Amino acid sequence: MTRTMTLLYEVYDGLYVNLTNRCSCRCTFCLRSQGESVCGSDSLWLEREPTFEEVRDEFAKFDMSRYDEVVFCGFGEPTEAWEVLKRVAAYVKEAFGLPVRVNTNGQGSLICGRDIAPEFAGLVDAVSISLNTPNPERYAELTRSRFGEAAFPAMLDFAREVKRYVPSVTMTTVETTLTPEEEAECQRICDELGVNYRIRLWVEEGKVTK
Ligand code: SF4
Repeated sequence: MTRTMTLLYEVYDGLYVNLTNRCSCRCTFCLRSQGESVCGSDSLWLEREPTFEEVRDEFAKFDMSRYDEVVFCGFGEPTEAWEVLKRVAAYVKEAFGLPVRVNTNGQGSLICGRDIAPEFAGLVDAVSISLNTPNPERYAELTRSRFGEAAFPAMLDFAREVKRYVPSVTMTTVETTLTPEEEAECQRICDELGVNYRIRLWVEEGKVTK
């Protein structure tokens, strides 16, 4: 395993922020078990977690006019580094005026030990939450969260709460992994929560498969 300090990497028109390799889950399908990088980036395994100042200084190496958004999504769960994330998000908005998205497993409030949804206000424009499956037992099997059975309802609660503070909240599943009936159930859950539902493509090292 190659360890680097790849803090920022490009995916199409977005600049992605890799803050941490920690995660509350050990998903059976995690990209981290299938390679070291995403979309041709250098290894996203970090030598250590960066400070806010290190991430801020890294932006100077990129032409920020080329990007449509900044996305917190790396080889780990971004809310594991929540305090640094908030400072970086505030810096991105102030310095570049770009929209900020957080891709999360939705377990940030469990990770931080408090309801962090209100802390998204004014810092984050979009949140994408991995729903994975409408079935709590299946979710536990797939994600192997350290929070066990508490993870699924907490993830749903987070979606409901963060919708109050963030303009766009989307829950996702991966295409071809669920039956049409299961996808319909995901849509029903999202409708009940008042968030968007998106069936997304599977991404593997260096490319999107479809
Ligand atoms: S939540 Fe994301 S980073 Fe964490 S184990 Fe699952 S797929 Fe990997």
